[in-house]
Amino acid sequence: RSSAPISGSLSADVRAALEACGVDLGAVGGDPETSTAVASPITGEQLVGTRLDRAEDIDAAIGRAAAAFPAWRDTPAPVRGQLVKRWGELLTEHKTHLATLVTAEVGKTPSEALGEVQEMIDIADLAVGQSRQLYGKTMPSERPGHRLQEVWHPLGVVGVISAFNFPVAVYAWNTALALVCGDTVVWKPADVTRLSAIAVDALLARAVAESGAPEGIHQLLLTDAEGSKRLVADRRVALVSATGSVRMGREVGPVVAERFGRTLLELGGNNGAIVAPSADLDLALRGVVFAAAGTAGQRCTTLRRLFVHSSVADQLTKRVVAAYESLAVGDPREEGVLVGPLVNQRSFEAQQAALAAAQEQGGTVLVGGDRELAEEHPDAYYVRPAVVSMPSQTAIVHEETFAPILYVMTYDDLDEVVAEHNAVPQGLSSAIFTTDQGEAERFLSAAGSDCGIANVNIGTSGAEIGGAFGGEKETGGGRESGSDAWKAYMRPSTQTVNYSGQLPLAQGVTFI
Ligand code: NAD
Repeated sequence: RSSAPISGSLSADVRAALEACGVDLGAVGGDPETSTAVASPITGEQLVGTRLDRAEDIDAAIGRAAAAFPAWRDTPAPVRGQLVKRWGELLTEHKTHLATLVTAEVGKTPSEALGEVQEMIDIADLAVGQSRQLYGKTMPSERPGHRLQEVWHPLGVVGVISAFNFPVAVYAWNTALALVCGDTVVWKPADVTRLSAIAVDALLARAVAESGAPEGIHQLLLTDAEGSKRLVADRRVALVSATGSVRMGREVGPVVAERFGRTLLELGGNNGAIVAPSADLDLALRGVVFAAAGTAGQRCTTLRRLFVHSSVADQLTKRVVAAYESLAVGDPREEGVLVGPLVNQRSFEAQQAALAAAQEQGGTVLVGGDRELAEEHPDAYYVRPAVVSMPSQTAIVHEETFAPILYVMTYDDLDEVVAEHNAVPQGLSSAIFTTDQGEAERFLSAAGSDCGIANVNIGTSGAEIGGAFGGEKETGGGRESGSDAWKAYMRPSTQTVNYSGQLPLAQGVTFI
């Protein structure tokens, strides 16, 4: 593996953050032939070239994770929890350093970047407690003198593929639980967020060394989608937990299924909210604007479809438009800025194409959609979040465009609007704003929202650790970061123990 000093315009704060997290800057870079650049969406400038792992590096990394598995599997779960506890302490100590890297690579505001690191700390806390609660059930046996029980065992190597927009939190949701469950982890971060991945991995390496855990239990792959495919196809990887677009999930799912591996898929969302006539409109306004424009519309839980009751539609829409006009768009590191850049030019082009399609399909752009700061930052893509009034839920509204576009539609009947809300292919997050308890309960019932997440009087984004996160339909069906999500990282063993001295057969069958 080649290593050369890093090159590129690494700003002082990014360099300091990497060094503080214990990153060996000399080992990060690659030779110019194989290295790949990470650009900051804030300025479009290259941050640094990192090494690019080749096929043999990927195979070797999976081999190290597989070799480390037996020793880690046999380590008592509460002892495994101690490693995650130490990692959580280091994440807490380096919270601002990691947030600096997330801001530099993704363009999140410091507040949102700190929130993302806080999620890592929170999942570490949850996982430490979970390490003493990997409960199996005992069931009454129908046979006398028999005991029937279920025991959860570690699974093996877990491949974690993460998306650019939550570069470290979603990885940590997986890794903290996988590690306490006795699995080893191979991580393929998004191409544009390699520096934050390197820093997080360095902190885990330190926790591993300090706690005496086997070195190979965590592996970081600095590779692209092609390298990622190698991880997906490898039979040594028991579970592939992949976060990203529906397109990616469609490619990954069949490959893993073909080899009878397991998948945990966290794919795209196309999240909707209903604002009922009884809603507290001040609260709905704030909930809608944060969910739709926050993180520049680049959250899987971003609000993209708003259904407003016709009796309050004009009033609320005007207020949303006014709020959008006053949103500070710009360098997220500047005081007061709420909307940072899109991740790259491709996102900007996707937004422009979606806006054009929406207008062709009868929509009217009420605010936003224009590029901003283009002269100052010709290689960065800032846009004012857009609100588009739509006559109905047309074809473009069925798609997730990963940029800030809020489609607004009106409704008159709750049952009809719930059906409309559920009519898109994705099923991640949903919300209703209402003060009518009956309406709220109908929305939360089995006949209501068909999403994995259903909220009342809060927006669609901003989930907390503890509740299982994930969605239905094309969102992939995975659940992570709370409730019973740990079970995805283990295999249940059903065990029958006969202490009767006889051999009665189940279902009353007689034999010899
Ligand atoms: P993406 O699908 O382009 O890439 C995600 C990751 O998958 C990257 O690491 C990429 O290199 C890898 N990848 C792509 N194709 C692959 C293949 N064929 N085989 C193996 N790996 C492959 O997504 P993105 O642009 O990084 O992220 C945005 C998308 O992620 C949005 O659709 C968003 O909704 C979704 N997302 C979902 C969740 C969730 O929890 N449901 C969370 C965050 C993001």
